[in-house]
Amino acid sequence: MRVHFWGTRGSLPASMTFQAVEQKIVKALQAAKGLNFSRDEDILHFVQNSIPFSVRGTFGTNTSCMEISGGDEYVICDAGTGIRDLGNHLAASGSAQNPSVFHIFISHLHWDHIQGFPFFVPAYIPGNRINIYGCHSGLLQAFENQQQSTHFPVNLHEMRAEINFHQLEPEQIVTISGFEVNPFAQQHPGVSFGYSFVKDGKKLVYSTDAEHKSEATTPDYPFINFIRDADLLVFDAQYNLLDAIDSKLNWGHSSNLAGVELAVSAGVKRLCLFHQDPTDDDSVLEDKLAKTRSYHKIYAGSEHQMQIDLAFDGLEIDF
Ligand SMILES: [Zn+2]
Ligand SMILES: [Zn+2]
Repeated sequence: MRVHFWGTRGSLPASMTFQAVEQKIVKALQAAKGLNFSRDEDILHFVQNSIPFSVRGTFGTNTSCMEISGGDEYVICDAGTGIRDLGNHLAASGSAQNPSVFHIFISHLHWDHIQGFPFFVPAYIPGNRINIYGCHSGLLQAFENQQQSTHFPVNLHEMRAEINFHQLEPEQIVTISGFEVNPFAQQHPGVSFGYSFVKDGKKLVYSTDAEHKSEATTPDYPFINFIRDADLLVFDAQYNLLDAIDSKLNWGHSSNLAGVELAVSAGVKRLCLFHQDPTDDDSVLEDKLAKTRSYHKIYAGSEHQMQIDLAFDGLEIDF
C-alpha cells in the first residue's frame, strides 16, 4: 500500500508570507557561507542534504486530502483543497482523460474536508464515476450547499462526471476497490469518522479531527481496538499537549503526545501526525516532530520500534 498526502493542514489553508520565504533564503545562505560550488548539481546536493526541511521546503498549505494506492481504482480520503492538486496532477499526466472510478471517503462535513471538491478536475470530465462515502446523513446536502450559486458558479449537478453519494454505517465493514473499509465514530463537534483500510494483510487507519480525552488512557478505550496493529496510523495531532488539555479542550482535536501513547498501546507500526495547525510555521512543525520522537523514546523506551513522521503536502509513504 502507498499513501500520498495532497493536503495536510487543518481548519483552513495556510499560505506562506514573503517574510517567511526571505527568512528561509537568509538561513540557507548562512549555511552556505564559505562554501564553493563549481557545479549546479553540487548546489542541489548541498540543499537536499545539508539544509533542514523547514528551510529548504515547506510542510505545505492545502487542507486534508490523502490518496491511497494499491486498490483497483482511485481511493481518496477527504476533499480539502489538496484534492485540487491531485486532480491537476491527473490532468497534467494525461490520466484524467481516461474514464476512471474515484472513491472518496469523507471524515465529516467541515469546510476543510470538502472545500476542494468544486475544483477537482476529474469531476468535470464526462465518463468519470465518482463515489462519495460518509456516515453523515447530510452528506449530499453539504456538497450541494457549497456549490449553491451564492457560493460557487457551478452547481454540483452540473459537473459532468457521474457523482453518487453512499451512506455508510459506523463499524459496518464494506469492501470497496479491494479494501475492507471500516468507519469508526470519533469525538468531534458534529462527529467525525475515521476509516481503516485492510488489504493483503496490511492495515491503514485514517483518523482525523478526533479528540481523545482522559478516557483514552484506559486499556478498553474503543479507539485502541480500531487502530490495533495498524501498519500506518494517520492521526490528528493539530495541537500540542497544553492546547489539547487546557485552552482548546473540547475543540475536537488531539495532540502529538496522545498520538504516541495511543499508537504504542495499540501496537501501531508507523505513526504519521496529520491535520497541522494553520498557525504553525515550518520551524514549529519540524520542532514538533523532533519532540514527538523524543517523547516516544521516553514513553515507550529506546528499544521500542515505531517510525514517526509529520505529514506534509507531497509526502508519500510506502508500507
Ligand atoms: Zn479538519
Ligand atoms: Zn472538523
